[in-house]
Amino acid sequence: MVRIGVLSIQGSVSEHMTRLSELEGVIPVRVRDEEALSEVDGLIIPGGESTAIGRLLNEFNLMGPLRERIERGMPVWGTCAGLILLAGEVENEKPWIGAMDIVARRNAFGRQTESFRMKRTVPSVSDKPIELVFIRAPIIVRAGEGVEVLVKTGDKIAAARQGRMLATSFHPELTSGNDFHNYFASIVRECMKS
Ligand code: GLN
Repeated sequence: MVRIGVLSIQGSVSEHMTRLSELEGVIPVRVRDEEALSEVDGLIIPGGESTAIGRLLNEFNLMGPLRERIERGMPVWGTCAGLILLAGEVENEKPWIGAMDIVARRNAFGRQTESFRMKRTVPSVSDKPIELVFIRAPIIVRAGEGVEVLVKTGDKIAAARQGRMLATSFHPELTSGNDFHNYFASIVRECMKS
């Protein structure tokens, strides 16, 4: 069994918990303090409002311990606001956790198209098309050399992996499929073997 945490400060926490509970061999855990953080094998940072989650991470004294666990190799997956929180650089703003070698642009799709869906095949994740849901989504405008691009929209990047870190600008937890949750669980399992 692997224990996968969902950072439970703000945002789409219960949706991630539901998707995780559908996976074999995964125990979903709500993480809102240092003790819970120390007990998980991997962590999802959900979508929501990155500024609110970032401020509360500082207020709850979780920012330091979280950075430290990520540095020591804990697998982490940021969805939407979570991507912004993981980014090493955020355009026109200070980064939050700053762990991934990516540059994020907030609310990249503008007002008219702030929310939309599309279907894509993501070869590393599944051989069937996956539904991608974008809600006031950010985008990755640049990624470093060690970053594997998983999904592109136009010339921008909507999903990327850097070693044990995964970032998606869309919300797999808001669809009925759990391909991305399975993919993240396999990263966590691989890490536990090594
Ligand atoms: N627009 C939000 C932000 O900048 C992210 C939106 C989301 O997580 N659905 O934090």
